[in-house]
This record gives sequence, structure tokens and C-alpha cells, in this order.
Amino acid sequence: LEVIASVEPRIAEATRQELADQRASLKLIASENYASPAVLMTMGTWFSDKYAEGTVGHRFYAGCQNVDTVESLAAEHARELFGAEYAYVQPHSGIDANLTAYWSILAHRVEGPWLTDAGVKNMNDLSEADWEKLRGALGNQRLLGMSLDAGGHLTHGFRPNISGKMFHQNQYGTDPETGLLDYDALLRKAREFKPLILVAGYSAYPRRVNFAKMREIADEVGATLMVDMAHFAGLVAGKVFTGEEDPVPYAHVVTSTSHKSLRGPRGGFILATEEYAPSVDRGCPMVLGGPLSHVMAAKAVAFAEARTPEFQGYAQKVADNAQSLAEGFLTRGAKLVTGGTDNHIVLLDVSSFGLTGRQAESALLDAGVVTNRNSVPSDPNGAWYTSGIRFGTPALTTRGFGREEFDTVAELVVDVLSNTEAGTNKAGAPSKATYVLGDGVADRITKQSAEM
Ligand code: PLP
Repeated sequence: LEVIASVEPRIAEATRQELADQRASLKLIASENYASPAVLMTMGTWFSDKYAEGTVGHRFYAGCQNVDTVESLAAEHARELFGAEYAYVQPHSGIDANLTAYWSILAHRVEGPWLTDAGVKNMNDLSEADWEKLRGALGNQRLLGMSLDAGGHLTHGFRPNISGKMFHQNQYGTDPETGLLDYDALLRKAREFKPLILVAGYSAYPRRVNFAKMREIADEVGATLMVDMAHFAGLVAGKVFTGEEDPVPYAHVVTSTSHKSLRGPRGGFILATEEYAPSVDRGCPMVLGGPLSHVMAAKAVAFAEARTPEFQGYAQKVADNAQSLAEGFLTRGAKLVTGGTDNHIVLLDVSSFGLTGRQAESALLDAGVVTNRNSVPSDPNGAWYTSGIRFGTPALTTRGFGREEFDTVAELVVDVLSNTEAGTNKAGAPSKATYVLGDGVADRITKQSAEM
């Protein structure tokens, strides 16, 4: 920090403060974690200075021999860790991984056959008229993903996201009674809509998914099954999700982030079958530019960590702790979407406290409990104010919390929300954003949570 302070002291100070804040508060954001010192240190090296567009052994720049070592090792660890036929570790983030995967699938399923039919190997050889036709074909494909309010991610066909714009998109939800995925309803929708790509995976669905069933549905309608395991990659790596709950044997393409439950550096990666590997391998230059070599190095370190028995123990604790948190809420009378959890996420419906997600999120933050508001299925408050709070156990499990501590977390959260009232705006009208936290509650809870 001294080196940074000698150039820009305010950045050094913000960095120091971030460490203090992350240590003092209860980090319950389901997509966050604490990476190991080895992972963090690997990101801060001179690999950041090196350009290496292309792929291993086939670069558009000279002097990439060390980056080749790094990228090969990261890919090898990823293949071994997940039992995948092929791994691509260049995407800079989860969104990049999804975009790269979409274009790879389009290249494999649409562009390749189209060029073969046209008798052309290279698209640069196409006439302007044929090029327009190919672009039309690429832009006329269908994607079916989980809706945002059911727990899907915005890259799964949400209209304002590029995935909702580049595809004709349709969404599947969950059963209105149980909040659970309804595979029969999904099959009916897929038969009707006939997607090129069926996307499985979620950001806020607190349950496991049966990927064998997902693959059956995809096969029946001729779709490519893409699973976005960004959230639960750590539970797959740690062998908590096995058999039909492990996406790798069933999906054609699996995308992920490396920084959530997997506890690596911020970044993305893709796993694929041999069949899809050649198109995914063209991620750069198709979608990506120069890879972040320092981050690929840190991915290799994180994957190596995840291959240890210690990581398997950690992943099991993440799931056990989520059970404890859910039970802690339920025994205190709170309402959970789907009535519980069997992954690392607990989705609390805060409407029974008379609050919006926005109000609950702010009140909890005042008390040192860091969460994020989240839509619940068919949310009456929409995606901005919402009616839910999403909790995740990966970060505090890294800090050593166990079942007992997570029960206390549930107690603190219920204490804060029971002592918070919806507020009004300046004109005295009800407001979905303002809230009144009971006297002394924030201080009391902050003190308790800082001691944990
Ligand atoms: N996919 C899923 C399921 C996610 O939950 C997220 C992040 O929240 C992403 C993709 C995007 O990841 P990133 O923020 O690294 O782009």
C-alpha cells in the first residue's frame, strides 16, 4: 500500500478501507467470496503487461511462451477439476464467457453449416449479398433461458441485455405454487418454441437442478444445452453436486465465473465437449481481445486449490451452512422462496416484514450485514425495489463460520427486519425506498456482527 500511496494516496486509503469493511461486516452476498492470498498475489504481477491475443501456440504476438505455460496449466487444471473434455480460460468475466459461448454455438451450429452449404471455407470470401444472408441467419436464432424473477441471469435472454437482443428469446419460470422448476412445463415450452440454445443455470434459485432432465429436453427439441454454473461452480468442483446435479457430463457447453463459490480471481471460463471445442477456442478473436494473463495465472492457482480435499470440505460446509441459515429463518417465522435451500443460496421474501427488498437491504447494511435485494417470482415490486433479499454462504464459510454461527446470522437478520418499518417520502406518502430502523438496533447488531 505504501507503493500505491506514493502515487495516489486516495487509492491506497480506499484499498485499506475496503479491507477493513470486508472484515468488519457480515458478507452475505451470494456471488462474493474471499480469494486466498496465493490467488490475490498471482493477480498482481507483470503478466498484466503482456499481450497474447490468440490461443496457446497460435498467438498474434511474439514472446508468449510464458503465457502459453500459464494458459495451458489453467486449462489443464480446469479439465481435471471438472472432468471436462475441453476448457477455455480466457473470458474476462461471466458475461464474457456467456457471450463467447453464444457466438461459439452460433459458429458451430449456424455459421459452419451455412458456409459449407455455400461451398465457402472462409467468410471473407463471401460476396456482400451472401454475407448479408449469413448475418440474417445468425441473427434469426432462438434462445430459451430462465426468467430473471425466477432466478435466471440477465445474460440468459433478458431483453435489455445483448442476449435478449441478439436472439429471439423466450423464458421459462418456476411453478407458482412451489417456486420449483417444473420440467414438464419447460418441456412443453421448449417443444413449442424450438430454441437453438437451452440455457440452464441461475443467480438466485435456491435449489439444485437436474441436468440429465435438462439434456433430455434439449435433445428432444434439437437444442444445444448450455449450463451457466457461475454461481455453483464451487459446489460442482467440491463434489457436492454429483450425478445428475453435475452439469459437465450433460451439457454441450458449460460457462462459469471463477470468483464466486469457486473462490478464484474475478473472471470467466468455458468447458465444452470435443465437438464444440474448436469453435470455443476461437473466442479470441471472435468475441475477445488480449487475455488477462495475470488473471489466467490466478485461475490456474485457484483451480489447483479447488482440486484439494480441503476444498471439498469447504464446499460441503457451504451447503450445510445454507441449510442452517434457512432453518434459522424458518424457525423464526420468516418466509423463504421454495421453502428452503439445497445449494448455497437462501432467498428471503421480506414482504412478511412489511418491507421491500430495497428497504430491507438498506436497513441490514446499516447494521453491518451486507446482502443484495433480489426479485422473487412474479415480484409485485419489480426488479428495482423487489420483495426479496438473497443470502449466500460462500464468503462467511471461508471465514470459518459453521452451522451455529449461521443460525446466529439468521437471528440478527430477523432482529433487524422486525425492528424496521417502511418509511415515507418528503411529501409524507408511502415510499418503497425509505425505512425507519428502530433506535439503537443498528449499533447493537453492528457490534454483535463485528464480534463474530
Ligand atoms: N452468470 C451468472 C449465473 C451470474 O450470476 C453472473 C454474475 O452475477 C454472471 C453470469 C456474470 O458474471 P460477471 O459479473 O463476472 O460478468
